Amino acid sequence: YYIRWMNTFPTVFDLANADEEAVLKAWEGLGYYSRARNLHKAAKTLVSENDGKLFEDKKRLLGLSGIGEYTAGAILSIAFGEREPAVDGNVLRVFSRLNAEAIDVKDVKVRSYVAESLRPYMKEGKTSSFTQGLFELGALVCIPDTPKCGECPLTASCLAFSQNRQKELPIKAKKKEKKVIDLTVFVISYQGKFAIRKRPDKGLLANLYELPNREGKISEEEVLSLYDGVARPLPDATHVFTHIIWNMKGYLVEVQTLPKEEDLLFVTPEEIKTRYSLPSAFSAFRRYCE
Ligand code: SF4
Repeated sequence: YYIRWMNTFPTVFDLANADEEAVLKAWEGLGYYSRARNLHKAAKTLVSENDGKLFEDKKRLLGLSGIGEYTAGAILSIAFGEREPAVDGNVLRVFSRLNAEAIDVKDVKVRSYVAESLRPYMKEGKTSSFTQGLFELGALVCIPDTPKCGECPLTASCLAFSQNRQKELPIKAKKKEKKVIDLTVFVISYQGKFAIRKRPDKGLLANLYELPNREGKISEEEVLSLYDGVARPLPDATHVFTHIIWNMKGYLVEVQTLPKEEDLLFVTPEEIKTRYSLPSAFSAFRRYCE
């Protein structure tokens, strides 16, 4: 995905000048589409306000779309050698265990407390290694359920290790139950083309294209009352988002006359591949658009 993205937009100018549909298409399959939109907006700001160069000033960096304390810290310490900590979930876990502090990683105040506690350890000229070292330690060694203390360079100074409390730290907030939504998805074909439509500009998968669908699981008879043609059931599929689960039932519907829904767009399989971004939530059904 990274290589495809960089080949499509090799410079910040290419990204700034692209239209949103091309940006979303290049991001297709990665989820979290707001990140692509934010990158696009940030590129436009940098091109119009700073000759396409990244801001080195923290306040201005934080003003860019999609950049918060964590990303600003990562950019400033890794790229510009500033003593700015970058605190993500991995860093919180390592910090909590090293100091045997039962911090709650979901508490927003904890991040600034950890950042200020780390800052004195960031030495001039070593800020990049410090930030990346912590990231790597958290991602590869001090991992959530089975920390590899035997491979850790910090064992001698780790309080959680000496107290055998690694697995109980940090405090794990209870996960919220995901909402389950039943959905019926239609792969509607008409003379070699397939129906897609644009999603609303707010909410889940905003402004992206989708296969027509409706909430609830509906029967073949109901499908035939909606569309003039033949319907064939497709295998069920599930897609898990951060807070929602879609349980999907699908139908391949070959229509004889164009459906009445005005928002449907009939496009060729080639156009789906190259032009319109269909989120991976629909990938189980997209393969029938051929
Ligand atoms: Fe994490 Fe174990 Fe290393 Fe402590 S010794 S920082 S718990 S991996």
